[in-house]
Amino acid sequence: MSGRSIGIIGAGLAGLACADLLAKRGFHPVVFDKGRGIGGRLATRRTAAGFQFDHGAQFVTAKTAGFGEVLSQAREAGVAGNWSTADRNVTVGVPSMNAIAKSLAAGLDIRLNTRVTKIWETANGWQIADSETETPFDRLVIAVPQPQAVDLIGKDHPLAAEIAHVTMSPCWTLMAAFPEHLRAPFSSRRAPDSCLAWVALNSSKPERPDKNSWVVQASADWSARNLDRDPDDVARELLLRLCGDLRFEPTSALHVAAHRWRYAKVETPYGKPFCRSASGTLYLGGDWCLDARAEAAWTSGVAIAEDLLEHLDAK
Ligand SMILES: Cc1cc2nc3c(=O)[nH]c(=O)nc-3n(C[C@H](O)[C@H](O)[C@H](O)COP(=O)(O)OP(=O)(O)OC[C@H]3O[C@@H](n4cnc5c(N)ncnc54)[C@H](O)[C@@H]3O)c2cc1C
Repeated sequence: MSGRSIGIIGAGLAGLACADLLAKRGFHPVVFDKGRGIGGRLATRRTAAGFQFDHGAQFVTAKTAGFGEVLSQAREAGVAGNWSTADRNVTVGVPSMNAIAKSLAAGLDIRLNTRVTKIWETANGWQIADSETETPFDRLVIAVPQPQAVDLIGKDHPLAAEIAHVTMSPCWTLMAAFPEHLRAPFSSRRAPDSCLAWVALNSSKPERPDKNSWVVQASADWSARNLDRDPDDVARELLLRLCGDLRFEPTSALHVAAHRWRYAKVETPYGKPFCRSASGTLYLGGDWCLDARAEAAWTSGVAIAEDLLEHLDAK
């Protein structure tokens, strides 16, 4: 439609929700992501031995009708299911958390393994560069965590000051697997005030491999205090703590790894669904605009697409 090219940096839920709506209205957005797979923090790690860990978002919930509809469509399509935690019923992607993101990505032009290293404004819009190519766009959407958005636009860009109050906390995540015969006293536990703020038996979620695989999230405080430690060292410490709680022998672990999320959860959101430059050609969005939840990312992405459609249609 109409010669208006749109580039989107980030194939997390925000970037994909934006691209999905634009594509449905006849545009051909191009989505770039530095990762090997889509979904961003809706992430799943699989090992050669067949263990699987949702090491990012654990589940999703919907407060709005719009995201509720996305989740019920995902359930109908067989890419989402129900999971009962210790204290609530929630929705998870099946067979992995990123299945929900993948369901929005069908038919989109997504360039993976492509880290955008530089962007700059031109007379007609924006130019973006990765290590190999430069591509011009009339409109640019940056749907990445706020600190990474500031890295791209530069600290001196007026939008950097506009979003400077946003804060995000880190999260060290442990992935650990044990022999089948070991049985734990619980399958999920939330304890926000302790070092192990969240512990879950990944295989208690629907349609996961029937393995004794666990995901542990350290608290934001512990993660911040230990942020720059060696991942193997962090994995060892979190494993000892987990095994104490599960009453497993640490030496029985069959797989142990830690993942550092530098920008995991939004602490202070921007306060509006997205941020737009004075020229109207650059948009910043993501969960950090609204809340520390996947739904906030989707809401932000859709709001950007609606604003783009309104302004592009008016041309
Ligand atoms: C450990 C953890 C637990 C969580 N638990 C929950 C939960 O239980 N429930 C819930 O609702 N939410 C949870 N969340 C939050 C949820 O995952 C996020 O709110 C949501 O996934 C954010 O989506 P997004 O699109 O805004 O950003 P992201 O998912 O971070 O997507 C941004 C994408 O941009 C890409 N990118 C960044 N920079 C560049 C660049 N320069 N070039 C190209 N690509 C780039 C990244 O690779 C990434 O794929 C959790 C998050 C974490 C980390």
